[in-house]
Amino acid sequence: MTSTLVAPHPHGAASAFIEKRPLERYVAPAKPSVVGLSRAALAEALGGVGVPERQQRMRVQQIWQWLYVRGVQSFDEMTTLPKDLRAILAGHFTLARPEIMAEQISVDGTRKWLLRLLGETSNRPHEVECVYIPDTDRGTLCISSQVGCTLNCTFCHTGTQRLVRNLTAGEIVGQVVLARDRLSDWTAVERPDGEGGKRLVSNIVLMGMGEPLYNFDAVRDALNVVADGDGLSISKRRITLSTSGVVPNIARAGSEIGVMLAVSLHAVTDEVRNELVPLNRKYPLRELLDACRNYPGLSNARRITFEYVMLKGVNDSLADARALVRLIKGIPAKINLIPFNPWPGSNYECSDWEQIEKFSEIVFNAGYASPVRTPRGRDILAACGQLKSATEKLSARERLALRAMAMTD
Ligand code: SAH
Ligand code: SF4
Repeated sequence: MTSTLVAPHPHGAASAFIEKRPLERYVAPAKPSVVGLSRAALAEALGGVGVPERQQRMRVQQIWQWLYVRGVQSFDEMTTLPKDLRAILAGHFTLARPEIMAEQISVDGTRKWLLRLLGETSNRPHEVECVYIPDTDRGTLCISSQVGCTLNCTFCHTGTQRLVRNLTAGEIVGQVVLARDRLSDWTAVERPDGEGGKRLVSNIVLMGMGEPLYNFDAVRDALNVVADGDGLSISKRRITLSTSGVVPNIARAGSEIGVMLAVSLHAVTDEVRNELVPLNRKYPLRELLDACRNYPGLSNARRITFEYVMLKGVNDSLADARALVRLIKGIPAKINLIPFNPWPGSNYECSDWEQIEKFSEIVFNAGYASPVRTPRGRDILAACGQLKSATEKLSARERLALRAMAMTD
């Protein structure tokens, strides 16, 4: 990291290391996309092109259905709207989603997309990752909330990326819409477990690039669109927001968004956590755990997930496991042990499998579910921040072919 990337900070270099400054501004495309607008923003947009106020509610409802239940890709297909309105809308707006720049499909069915966001004028592309992980009882989409991340967790590749900007609500919703397009997931399907009527994308986790609680308003607005029961209809119980510990926004996440919370704990002492998650110097463990204890809506049915990345010789001793159990005592919780996913240039190793099992057993015996997150899509490096650097970018021709395929699928 060069000094120009670090925000000048009154308390000196140690504090500056905690956060980079978001460098890039969002520049809207000349013709904006309506995908991802809230109902209120959509009504306002309609007002702007002459739809009278008394019609706006009905029109929003109609467009909402086309966008989020049917997944149409052109205004022309919105046949419940008058033809002239369709033409007006097409003159002012698009239904564009982020563009797929690269796609990888793992032998285990995990799919990973590198997405370019729309409307950038700078010559540096604004790209994020999105991963779809199919399972027998669910399909989880892992989405991004920022291009890069202003935080610098030492084991995370996203933290090393220089370019940072917040995604708009539309760009966050756009990832869900795009996944449904690409998976042909706009109509209910039969699932391998014999249950019909479910969509492939049934769960969302905000565990891609970025710190969602540093992009609070856009994340809140986007998740309200995603959870809307007349549209994409993915209930808030099936949406998990993962934070590195932005304490002041944790209570807001519970009361204003109401989704499930995951906290990237990763260490049981401030000393180790300061090193792994430098934000800990601003919001130390005690404050973080207090915020968790007071998370609005917390109950045995709505537990907090504590994420714990297993780093050999750093945080994986059995004494650490026992300290972990003591630390979270009294908080309805699950503990998700994540095998460290190495990336080129990373300074850590993943704990040995045997050690992970012993660690997990201590946590389990203390009464906590402690699933070890099965590495999925290892063959396509489907972990945080890895596609961008590891994938050969597609040529313009290949991209066109991919887009054509997406439209005809
Ligand atoms: N910024 C948020 C959400 C995105 S990261 C957060 O930090 O919680 C999602 C999860 O992936 C976090 O728990 C993060 O610590 C973890 N993670 C990041 N890099 C990883 C790596 N190389 N191997 C395993 N887990 C990683
Ligand atoms: Fe950012 Fe999360 Fe990576 Fe830390 S782990 S750098 S907060 S994306």
